Amino acid sequence: MPDNGDLTRRQFVRLSAMAGSGLLLTRSMGLFAGTNPAASIKSRGYAAIDTSGTLVPWEFERRPVGDNDILIDIKYASICHSDIHQMKGHWGPQQYPQVPGHEIVGIVAAVGKNVTKFKVGDRAGVGCMVDSCLDCENCEGEEEQYCPQTVFTYGYPEESSPTGISQGGYSTNIVVRDHFAVHIPDHISLQEAAPLLCAGITTYSPLMKFDLEKGDKVGVAGIGGLGHMAIKLAVSKGAEVYAFTTSPGKVKDILAFGAREAIVVDDITKLAPYRGMLDYMICTIPAQYDVAAYAAVVRPFGVYTQVGMPERFELSVNNLGLSISRVNFNASLIGGMKETQDVVNYCADSQILPQIQIIKAEQINEAWESVVNKKARYRYVIDAATF
Ligand SMILES: [Zn+2]
Ligand SMILES: [Zn+2]
Repeated sequence: MPDNGDLTRRQFVRLSAMAGSGLLLTRSMGLFAGTNPAASIKSRGYAAIDTSGTLVPWEFERRPVGDNDILIDIKYASICHSDIHQMKGHWGPQQYPQVPGHEIVGIVAAVGKNVTKFKVGDRAGVGCMVDSCLDCENCEGEEEQYCPQTVFTYGYPEESSPTGISQGGYSTNIVVRDHFAVHIPDHISLQEAAPLLCAGITTYSPLMKFDLEKGDKVGVAGIGGLGHMAIKLAVSKGAEVYAFTTSPGKVKDILAFGAREAIVVDDITKLAPYRGMLDYMICTIPAQYDVAAYAAVVRPFGVYTQVGMPERFELSVNNLGLSISRVNFNASLIGGMKETQDVVNYCADSQILPQIQIIKAEQINEAWESVVNKKARYRYVIDAATF
């Protein structure tokens, strides 16, 4: 490292990245004579090192800021149940250390020379994906998540990453191709914007594709981070919302979110009175459950979308149960980048905000336990200044 006077390491990293991007102010140039413009970016965060579900502090490197990349100084990252599933190996063997986190917001600290979408100082967010081919039918159709070459935000092979895999947002910064970052408008706080990057888009996308109309009866099953956003979004579009939860302690919140009714499904027979009643249902339950029993709450030829991801990504379905209800069953994966920008703008404009609890990095492990035990209310947001 060259003599960089009294710059902190973080400032140094930021400035050297900017130097690599041709953005460094001329008056500072002298400081960096001899600096490698393609220097990797130092990052610090919390990583899983095995399947235990316990994260530990970890320092690592990110790729240098490329011509189409931006560097984001992360301010907040929120906790999604997917982080826990993946780190614990529920979705298959993982490479460790691995930094989870795909609800990421911060401030742009450097931009590559081809980048026009962002400038230094912009508020930016990153969700569940960080790259794709940008050339196939799905990419051109603005559904990049269905591109065969999509790189998801953590744990995916990524040649450019010094660790060989993508590393997520429980960290101080991230380098990402500009296309895969969205703008965070000024009229929403960064901490409230963070959960929109997965929980928001994952529920917004199928709701929009269903084309829901005012007065439609919409069910939401599983009222956690995703489910509480689904209620708020559906209510904001004029739907009559029925929320299904296994937690009696959430009923009051559910009604406050605007649902018409909160149904406590402590026993599957509690669903029977609602049979055939709904036009649409979105299910966020991230575990095995009785799919056919829930699907039967939707009217024949109505639509049912699964967004919760259980262990091994597997759901068993009683085929007879599903056939009797004649529901159009589908599963949905996040949403494209344009739609992600749409949901962030929509939530900022309409003030549809997630209910969050800010935590410090050292509380992540405890927070994960609360998520697993259904105690989260409703999204934990990590203050990145504590990494
Ligand atoms: Zn998620
Ligand atoms: Zn593609």
